Amino acid sequence: RALNFNAGPAALPEEVLKEAEKNLLNFSNTGMGIMELSHRSKEYQAVHDQAKTLLRKLLAIPDDYEVLFIQGGASLQFSMIPMNLLGKDQEAHYILSGSWSEKALKEADKIGKTVISASSKDQKYRLIPEYNQNDIPDSAAYLHITSNNTIYGTQWKTFPSNEKTPLAADMSSDILSRPLEVEQFDLIYAGAQKNLGPSGVTVVIIRKELLQRSSEKLPAMLNYNTFANNNSLYNTPPTLAIYLLSLVLEWADKKGGLQQIEKANEKKAKMLYDAIDESEGFYIGHAHKDSRSCMNVTFNLQNEDLSREFLHKAQEAGFVGLGGHRSIGGCRASIYNAVPEHHVEKLAAFMKAFKNNN
Ligand code: PLP
Repeated sequence: RALNFNAGPAALPEEVLKEAEKNLLNFSNTGMGIMELSHRSKEYQAVHDQAKTLLRKLLAIPDDYEVLFIQGGASLQFSMIPMNLLGKDQEAHYILSGSWSEKALKEADKIGKTVISASSKDQKYRLIPEYNQNDIPDSAAYLHITSNNTIYGTQWKTFPSNEKTPLAADMSSDILSRPLEVEQFDLIYAGAQKNLGPSGVTVVIIRKELLQRSSEKLPAMLNYNTFANNNSLYNTPPTLAIYLLSLVLEWADKKGGLQQIEKANEKKAKMLYDAIDESEGFYIGHAHKDSRSCMNVTFNLQNEDLSREFLHKAQEAGFVGLGGHRSIGGCRASIYNAVPEHHVEKLAAFMKAFKNNN
């Protein structure tokens, strides 16, 4: 297996891929591969329901929330959230902590009134911005945050709380990486292709009460109620992606759930952050220490030539996906749940060796 540090689509657990491989030809003795089954068949239905049940179990999702499987990626949620939740005379508040929150805001702007409640753009998104709860009026349609900033490598450690303002969070790059109090949120969404499975399915967890807000005039496929009322089977769902999601969730459950996964993630992140901190300025972390992400470790070397040389040598040594996002450059190691500890160990050792040789 390659030493895969891609940001998404990203490494999946080897056990999951092996299990999937078996079922591509003959799922559950049907003589058909998993993606050849009808989405109305009892065999597929069991997979679909298992994915929902396991997600509810792992995240301890209360009964007053719906779990939806939608296509269109997290990017479609940038539009669906304001389309469904932002009333004509309301304002939607956005906290900007990176490019993905900017993109979410841009789409909401096309639908209705928006306000930027806080932003760390001036600080090059090196940290999660400070915000004043009092600046977010109780009348706001919702407050939107991005819990983990995949590109900049920062992550929220605690979340805003105001009982009156619904909180919507893009958790595409850190869902399932740590225990979560779902009740703190009113809507959580995540494209699957980092911690949940392959691309093609987006998970939306929404407080049922919010479903009343959607106008009946919305196109069916853009209305959350269409998914909620039909067990996300109104039209053909991405069956293969949901099957892989169910396997990833089983894997996470077998690992001991989110507390164990968090411990493993913290250990992996520490190895890389230690390599940065102990390098005496050879590696320069992008994120402020108290905003550091356990999922995406972003850093630079002292100049672009050295960064390029690092990436080149890393590639030669078998490391994949260490280049920073095309918008900011530098280096980034994405260490999602499925990236094995020994791969991270190898990267930390490589970083130390590269430093000593340069
Ligand atoms: N939000 C975050 C935090 C992301 O990291 C990404 C993709 O990397 C997206 C949104 C966009 O997701 P998608 O490509 O599924 O639309």
